[in-house]
Amino acid sequence: MKPIIGRCASFARPEPGCWLAQVGIGLPALRQNAGVQAFYSDQFVLPLPEGHRFPMAKYALLRERLEQELPDLRLAPALPASAGELALVHHPAYVAAVAQGTLTPAQQREIGFPWSPAMAERALRSVGATLQACRAAMSGRGVAANLAGGTHHAYADKGAGFCVFNDAAVAARVMQAEWARRGEAWRRRPLRVAVIDLDVHQGNGTARIFQGDDSVFTLSLHGEKNFPFRKEASDCDIDLPDGCGDADYLAALEQGLTELERRFEPGLVIYLAGMDPHENDRLGRLKVTADGLEARDRRVFDWAWQRRIPLVMTMAGGYGRDIAITVGLQVNSYRIALDYGRRWQALSVARA
Ligand SMILES: [Zn+2]
Repeated sequence: MKPIIGRCASFARPEPGCWLAQVGIGLPALRQNAGVQAFYSDQFVLPLPEGHRFPMAKYALLRERLEQELPDLRLAPALPASAGELALVHHPAYVAAVAQGTLTPAQQREIGFPWSPAMAERALRSVGATLQACRAAMSGRGVAANLAGGTHHAYADKGAGFCVFNDAAVAARVMQAEWARRGEAWRRRPLRVAVIDLDVHQGNGTARIFQGDDSVFTLSLHGEKNFPFRKEASDCDIDLPDGCGDADYLAALEQGLTELERRFEPGLVIYLAGMDPHENDRLGRLKVTADGLEARDRRVFDWAWQRRIPLVMTMAGGYGRDIAITVGLQVNSYRIALDYGRRWQALSVARA
């Protein structure tokens, strides 16, 4: 990859080719856009049957703890994604079936949720949150987050595995469309988006949606023997054996990042910070510790920060035997996001 840092002599008038010019910002935007924004949709609670294994309570608990422990995180309710935005990825008939409640029983079983108005609304807001976070990160904040999302099992024409719509895919496509509409000559190259998916389950929907598309790079580290049992081909897949611990996990991440860097030069990173590789997870089958997950998150944020690439973090999975442990792990990810958001902020102040 070509060096990006230090190309630009003036932040007020970024030169073509500079990372600031690539994300379309100058100094005034950086001054206005301090802080890390995080968007939530937990007010839409799905009515699930007793004993359902989806941890619905996790989302509100996470926001509660973030409000208490990370007051610098700027929490805001997510707006719903529009049908037009969803249509950049999803088939209109599928979008309409979710909106109108006409999903078949088989489609609902594959998603894992019974349809309800809250289910449809929550799905729209969860995509909207990733989209808003992408706009925030790309407008100079550098880092932003969704308190849900990471719904990577959703395909263009169907949902699966607790995923209705594919938020990362829709956000990538919308950001590319908005980028193209700006139209300056130096932006003729499409916005290139890297999806770094570290949820323990393969990002099969995302991989399939972007198969053969060289403007989006999909990297997935996942349990070899875990769901989905029929995997798709990402641009880079790394299969992890059952019981994989910190050292092997972090080495695999290095391998993935090296491969990503060798083959791609992203202008935006969407990071799925799933907590289900944790040793205490009911579904994960791996043995990564809390320290290992912190090192993982820091490595991903650091990788993007070193290259001054805007990064959006989404929550993805996490199914701890004790839900408070999962929420605690996730709080730590948002703490790290805040840490790197402050670096972007300091960068803008230092250059002002
Ligand atoms: Zn997962």
